Amino acid sequence: MPETPNLIHLAIPAFIILLLLEVVISALVKRETYEAKDTFSSLAMGIGNVLIGLVGKALVLGTFMLVWQFRLLELDPRQAWVWVLLFFAEDFSYYLFHRTAHSSRWFWASHVVHHSSQKYNLGTALRQTWTGNLSGGFVFWLWLPLLGFHPLMIMTMQSISLLYQFWIHTELIGKFPRPIEFIFNTPSHHRVHHGSDIKYLDKNHAGILIIWDRMFGTFQEEEEHPTYGLTRNIQTFNPLRIAFHEWIDMLRDVVRPGLSLRQRLGYLFHAPGWSHDGSRKTTEQLRAELEAGPQKDVHQTATH
Ligand SMILES: [Zn+2]
Ligand SMILES: [Zn+2]
Repeated sequence: MPETPNLIHLAIPAFIILLLLEVVISALVKRETYEAKDTFSSLAMGIGNVLIGLVGKALVLGTFMLVWQFRLLELDPRQAWVWVLLFFAEDFSYYLFHRTAHSSRWFWASHVVHHSSQKYNLGTALRQTWTGNLSGGFVFWLWLPLLGFHPLMIMTMQSISLLYQFWIHTELIGKFPRPIEFIFNTPSHHRVHHGSDIKYLDKNHAGILIIWDRMFGTFQEEEEHPTYGLTRNIQTFNPLRIAFHEWIDMLRDVVRPGLSLRQRLGYLFHAPGWSHDGSRKTTEQLRAELEAGPQKDVHQTATH
């Protein structure tokens, strides 16, 4: 198997330099963008992700190679159009993965890590899951080796997407000219994605291209300043708790006494916030309440 450089490992010095630069600029413009404890726990999550990635990536590569044996087409990596096609196919797979990571608790249990900071900065970009590959997040890319893209091409494109997504985690860049904001995922679009405000929940799942959100109805423009973090924040800087809290909560729900099998599966695969007795709320339920809210107010004002 040919040795390909790990782009993420190569980029680590650039991550650190840019992060330090953002710390300095934020201090100069007197923005409270960074909080030491929060940044250190983000860095710990990033380091853990890289270390566990050594095993996780082998698992993904092995699975991709297995599927690639049954490929439908011969796609030659020396042809430029194959890479162009892969760029779009990978970015679409990322969109599907990321949207599901927000709408099914099994995948959310890993992805919640990335949303657990109440700060939005380049450090938050490094706050990555430890369990993503191990819990099967890569299934969303499996159609690519089946189609005939070589597994190492796919993994290179995944790294390019991840590198792209680093720099958009900043408040120091406002909005780009319209055509750029229309096509690409930008700091503005991704700030919305990290917002815990009901209007911003589960929006802008893009990797590199924002067009998928525009096409499939999950786009939201940045309007008010987002409130970063989760709807219920976890109040911890402990990397182990950040990595596993949702897995533990989920398993606790699944083994609760007196539930039907269907309800147990619901706790595993339904949207985050789903509950068998309506004691918690999903994004859809929160949004429905918000929409119903003003009408109730109008009614109340009318009757009083
Ligand atoms: Zn997300
Ligand atoms: Zn992010």
